Amino acid sequence: MVNRPPEFCPYCGEALSPVDPPTTHYCAACDDAVFYNPIPTTRLAVLDGESILLVKVDSPDADLWGTPGGMVEAGENPDEAGARELKEETTLTVNPDDLVLFDVRSFAKFGTTHKTVLAYAVDVTDVRGTPKADNEVAAARFWSASELARVEDRLLTSWPTAYKDVGWWVENARAALE
Ligand SMILES: [Zn+2]
Repeated sequence: MVNRPPEFCPYCGEALSPVDPPTTHYCAACDDAVFYNPIPTTRLAVLDGESILLVKVDSPDADLWGTPGGMVEAGENPDEAGARELKEETTLTVNPDDLVLFDVRSFAKFGTTHKTVLAYAVDVTDVRGTPKADNEVAAARFWSASELARVEDRLLTSWPTAYKDVGWWVENARAALE
């Protein structure tokens, strides 16, 4: 699978013909189809009261934060991917069985990278450890919507409108846990 519209066959390198773009393309040399599909991704809303755990993207030009998460790997269930990404990014551990699915949607990041996001809620009481930025992120801490509104930092600009609103995350994740 590729994560931008394919022009060349990923197996033999020949130019592809569009069959049903943007999803289906054809390689004459391989006599086979090449598909361009959304990437399955998980996001975790770890709630502590009215605050939510956010991780800071390792970017030099902006103070951008997002909920922890990442791409589902081959052979992995989405909830297991969420637990793994949480540990990789923040050192926190959670049992995948304690994650409650509350939102699923597809969107195109920067218009080209299509993602299907499964968003899970979990209360901080079901999570073990203290958030600490690990290899993949620059910082990890809890924020309330009002705290984040008082600083220049913001949520990822490549996200759909709802996802750029801390209040949306807290409200919907909390509703799923009650
Ligand atoms: Zn080919």
